[in-house]
Amino acid sequence: MYSVPQFEEYRSDPLHALENLLNAQAAEAAKVRTETEWKEFRDRWLGRKNGIVTQLNQLWLKAAPPHYKPTVGENLNAIKPQIERLVEETLNRIQGGASTARLAAERVDVTLPGIRRPLGAEHPVIKTMNEMVGVFRNLGYSVEEGPEIETDYYNFEALNFPPNHPARDTQDTLFIAGQESKPQRDRLLLRTHTSPVQIRSMEKMKPPLRVVCPGKVHRNDAPDATHSPIFHQVEGLAVDTNITFCDLKGTLDHAMKALFGSSVKTRFYPSFFPFTEPSADVQISCIFCGGTGTRDGAPCRNCKASGWIELLGCGMVDPNVYGFVDYDPAKVSGFAFGMGVERIAILKYGVDDIQLFFNGDVRFLEQFA
Ligand SMILES: [Zn+2]
Repeated sequence: MYSVPQFEEYRSDPLHALENLLNAQAAEAAKVRTETEWKEFRDRWLGRKNGIVTQLNQLWLKAAPPHYKPTVGENLNAIKPQIERLVEETLNRIQGGASTARLAAERVDVTLPGIRRPLGAEHPVIKTMNEMVGVFRNLGYSVEEGPEIETDYYNFEALNFPPNHPARDTQDTLFIAGQESKPQRDRLLLRTHTSPVQIRSMEKMKPPLRVVCPGKVHRNDAPDATHSPIFHQVEGLAVDTNITFCDLKGTLDHAMKALFGSSVKTRFYPSFFPFTEPSADVQISCIFCGGTGTRDGAPCRNCKASGWIELLGCGMVDPNVYGFVDYDPAKVSGFAFGMGVERIAILKYGVDDIQLFFNGDVRFLEQFA
């Protein structure tokens, strides 16, 4: 390492002393490889407090006798720009090297093929739900949605569920905890069906009304091949003057043919729902055996050899329900229906376990893409 000699040495052989100094700086500059090293190098030579240039002023210029000072000053003024230039050149050298290396590392070969990102696809349940909604949209129904967390009033009371109806049982319904202080009708629960949306729609709109309500519902069911605590429903409601059971039959017969093919037959069986009167279960002719009950010479397992598959519930809206939404039951009538989306997806795609829809196994889901 170079250190600035005392003035005596400079005075004895000024040219030699200056040459030594510049050679020493050049040798140090040649060793600089990184930016950190360069900063040390720069501070060592140009540092304001203790750099070598500052030392030259102290040790040579100030120490020189007055008559010799101009000569020393001239020499130092000539040498300073040289020192500064070498510091600058050294920086350029290492930065040039670094940027060349960086350019090489960041080189992009634009002729390489791009990275293909796999495209997502609709989940089979959503796909089926959209298909079902589409059938009714084509009939002029509008789509309505409502909250998944409902009040007891919308989920049960306004739908004409008597207070002790078994569907209110905690076995079926998932109630939100800690609401004992609220009156029963305000207590929150996870909706067990999409029917509350029908009430909300009738509150919003005056008849005539045709809505279809798709959505997610929750029940306290243990998961197995045919049950899931979460599933989806599509419900429909039509209210107008002179709506009859024939309209209901015609609408659902059309919907089933649109979903399962024009050869499918429907039949209606008496049933019970609190919010419809009369109520019916709808069966379709078995799509696996064509309604014959036998397949490949053996009894059809899908319809238990009956030739029919039960698919959905429906009925004429109970006049009591109109009382909750300020419709006049003497003037209007209507029908409602509801179907499980998973149930229809299972039939359409021949899936044997409802859990497959919710396990998130991409190998299963890919088949529907
Ligand atoms: Zn069958």
